Amino acid sequence: MDVLNPQFKDIVILGGGPSGLSAGHILSSSGSNVLVIEGQARVGGLAKTIQHNEFRFDLGGHRFITDSKQLEALVREVLGGELLVVERSSKILHDGKLYDYPLSVRNALSRLGLRTSIRLVADYLSEQIRKHFTKTPIISLEDWVVRHFGRSMFDLFFREYSEKVWGVPCDRIAKEWVATRIKGLSLWVAIRGAFTRAKSRRLRTLANQFLYPPLGIGQICDNLQARIEQTGQVMTDTRVIGINHADDEIQGVMVQDAIGIHEYSASEFISSIPLTAVVQLLNPQPPAEIRQAAASLRFRDLVVVTVMLDRERVTDQTWMYVPDPAVPFGRIHEPKNWSPRMAPAGKTHLVVEYFCFKEDAIWTATDTALAQRTVRELGKLGIIEPEEVIDSAVLRIPNAYPLFEVDYIEKQKCIVEYLDRFSNLELVGRGGQFEYYNTDHAMESGIAAAEAIIARNNGAPAVRTPILEPGWVCP
Ligand SMILES: Cc1cc2nc3c(=O)[nH]c(=O)nc-3n(C[C@H](O)[C@H](O)[C@H](O)COP(=O)(O)OP(=O)(O)OC[C@H]3O[C@@H](n4cnc5c(N)ncnc54)[C@H](O)[C@@H]3O)c2cc1C
Repeated sequence: MDVLNPQFKDIVILGGGPSGLSAGHILSSSGSNVLVIEGQARVGGLAKTIQHNEFRFDLGGHRFITDSKQLEALVREVLGGELLVVERSSKILHDGKLYDYPLSVRNALSRLGLRTSIRLVADYLSEQIRKHFTKTPIISLEDWVVRHFGRSMFDLFFREYSEKVWGVPCDRIAKEWVATRIKGLSLWVAIRGAFTRAKSRRLRTLANQFLYPPLGIGQICDNLQARIEQTGQVMTDTRVIGINHADDEIQGVMVQDAIGIHEYSASEFISSIPLTAVVQLLNPQPPAEIRQAAASLRFRDLVVVTVMLDRERVTDQTWMYVPDPAVPFGRIHEPKNWSPRMAPAGKTHLVVEYFCFKEDAIWTATDTALAQRTVRELGKLGIIEPEEVIDSAVLRIPNAYPLFEVDYIEKQKCIVEYLDRFSNLELVGRGGQFEYYNTDHAMESGIAAAEAIIARNNGAPAVRTPILEPGWVCP
């Protein structure tokens, strides 16, 4: 293969999403010569905002929440102080009725009726008693939810939506996903919060306010790119197609753009591209068990269909969740409820998320068929009138969610342990570490990698915590 102009940089960052760009911002601010390589035409990864004529929308609405004052200060500074505080109001659309999310007891009681409500509570109490006498291990999402909320609650509120999001039965979804997602939440905390608006509101998943950039979540990454470009370089429309290594060091990356194939070498590399892709791109190839582990880790993909409407506003909701298996999509949001600058005056748009795999009919359907189906289904739900639709946009987003199947953790750890031998490679981000990170966690992982590199360059000893517990053998 012809390689054009091999070049040397201090630091090469693979992927220009929130994690890669946060790392790039910290490193370029500290004086390093940084190159970010991004495969898509725009930076932002999953947290980008699309501009379609006068309409703007995220790839599924992205609220910004962080527990870290430093990260919040950094985001505020990067946005030049422009950050909205948005009140969250979400509903679950179930059996033609709207339920508050998070659960409000009065609302649930009035919609479910007394008999079902008593069954939910009785079931929860019997599960609390049972767990004192039987010690069955919790392996899956189903085990976890039944143990914490009772079987009826699981059947009513968790099963259908989770299976729609993940595309596998709940007994195949690892408990680690639900444990991190709704950490610290029990039925008691949820009910007490519904009455008192107290502790449960402090749980991230139930937070009733969030931060949002006025031009969409992608404004964070767009501004990070501008910062990096003051001294460094961000190459878009450029894919990493090979990662060369020798003697436990990354030597360089092969990248392809519209002109041809280039090679970039560097002292340090940070990767935020999918963990599984790194394994495939390594040259020479890793051992067979690592390749097999990577080949069997899966991501869930996403199709986003946006319909533009000749109407001022459709809902007053942040998100509407649609668990019903008869409806092909799982979530709806109206960007104007997040920031008034997302749609022009007198018009609005709805963004609809179809969770799928690339092999599914949803992914391979034509844009026209997807737009027509979305309009039809929104009409059936009574949310819009088809005549109001003035435009639509369809986007296919690969690798949207790392899929936590029950045996994922051994495979993930073995791949990370293998890649840990490369003394100048840091793995960051959601796909890059195969972790269920939100934007703030992804940014923090990038910042931590940047700080580790700065410390190493200042002569601090490299500290790497062992990933595998003693005695753990890769499958
Ligand atoms: C539907 C949905 C809703 C979400 N909602 C929220 C929310 O409300 N709040 C929140 O905080 N988070 C939310 N998230 C999560 C958030 O999007 C991610 O945490 C964040 O984008 C992860 O950033 P990252 O940099 O780790 O990865 P990514 O955003 O995936 O960026 C990785 C980048 O690497 C690039 N890349 C991949 N392969 C190559 C290659 N070979 N060569 C070059 N470049 C490559 C990709 O194009 C991408 O730009 C949501 C995610 C989804 C899918």
